[in-house]
Amino acid sequence: MTIDVPEIRVVKSKSVACDGGEEDLGHPKVYLNMGDEGRVDCPYCDALFVLKDGPHDKGEATD
Ligand SMILES: [Zn+2]
Repeated sequence: MTIDVPEIRVVKSKSVACDGGEEDLGHPKVYLNMGDEGRVDCPYCDALFVLKDGPHDKGEATD
């Protein structure tokens, strides 16, 4: 456990489901909605979902 930088996932829908992905950090699947902000992060694993072509999609994670 040396990485605590949020994983950024660019998705095409404002509604996303997260279950922790392939990591050992798996968690119960939760559904998240970005609303108008165009981004949301998972309260379980901190993965950051960004709406493709939305206000927070910079093409690269340089934040
Ligand atoms: Zn998650």
